[in-house]
Amino acid sequence: MAETVIMVTGGSGLVGHGIQLALEEDKKPNEKWIFLSSKDADLRNHEATKLLFEKYKPTHVIHLAAKVGGLFYNLENNCDAYKMNSQMNSVVLDLCKEYKVQKVVSCLSTCIFPDKTTYPIDETMIHNGPPHFSIYGYGYAKRMVDVMNHAYNEQYGCHFTSVIPCNIFGPHDNFSLREGHVIPGLIHKAYLAERYDQPLVILGTGKPLRQFIYSVDLGKLIIWVLREYPEIKPIILAVDEKDEISIRDAGELVIKAFGYKGEIVQDLSKSEGQFKKTASIAKLRKYLPGFKFTPTKQAIEETVNWFRKNYETAKK
Ligand code: NAP
Ligand code: GDP
Repeated sequence: MAETVIMVTGGSGLVGHGIQLALEEDKKPNEKWIFLSSKDADLRNHEATKLLFEKYKPTHVIHLAAKVGGLFYNLENNCDAYKMNSQMNSVVLDLCKEYKVQKVVSCLSTCIFPDKTTYPIDETMIHNGPPHFSIYGYGYAKRMVDVMNHAYNEQYGCHFTSVIPCNIFGPHDNFSLREGHVIPGLIHKAYLAERYDQPLVILGTGKPLRQFIYSVDLGKLIIWVLREYPEIKPIILAVDEKDEISIRDAGELVIKAFGYKGEIVQDLSKSEGQFKKTASIAKLRKYLPGFKFTPTKQAIEETVNWFRKNYETAKK
């Protein structure tokens, strides 16, 4: 059987590690996986990236690499987020075409959906209106990957597709208080609150709603997309709509996982971003009706345990 060489850009991040953990139970002998980090090449640089394609000759690419941040990073860095992500995406997809990569799976985000919309949002609605103002740089750069996927397919016959995950968390996340997403931020803050006997501060009212997916579940789903999903059109990878929770609920789960008895307080001076981005997973359920997500409580406990064990070296 011919060997499949799967090159994962951004393989050293949260989702890259989610795929690595998922593969521990789902290895295939004919697959060779290569997980890249920014140390292998800056993917904004065409020449440096071309050397990676020369070296590894990938038959398949999972393109995860991105400048990723939570609400508070994006609010202040729309220009950088647009520029860095659109540069990486053009270089990577262009080289995938040049090196005749058989299939590419790129990672978008439910952040890219229109701000003014009806709910639940589905895959057909990506381009229906501007993203939320807090995240338009990242949002437009990611939306253009869907445009490129269709254009490369129509003009050159490439099989480039994309996945649209909701808010992700898990081991190896970015736990930075300034730049990270809400669950790693709350975990880091709860760790400090417990250590210094302080309250846990939630930014905003805690009322906004989010679907949260565990990186290991997402890893399993991305592997399935790579091996089996046949479409160019994107697919939403998220937990069921009924499992959407408030930021406050997420905070409660985090402090329970720490076994911390302190109180939760709100900082109402801080932004809340888009109130909700509720996404339909009807398409995913059509393909994989029986897929079981890790319960959010268990996934948060596993992430908290990982953070406690790896506090010194965790990205933060
Ligand atoms: P992450 O943990 O921040 O990891 C980012 C990865 O990209 C790292 O491997 C990083 O390498 C690499 N990278 C960044 N800039 C690069 C550059 N200029 N050249 C080469 N590599 C570069 O991100 P993540 O959360 O795993 O995100 C993976 C994908 O999921 C992204 O496409 C993101 O947009 C999407 N997504 C994330 C979320 C979320 O909640 N986190 C939600 C929806 C979608 P180093 O490790 O060397 O820095
Ligand atoms: P988003 O899902 O892309 O909007 O990004 P985040 O993961 O950063 O989640 C942002 C939501 O969580 C907003 O409603 C914030 O007000 C709220 N939030 C509460 N506390 C925190 C925190 O410590 N860090 C972050 N990033 N968001 C927080």
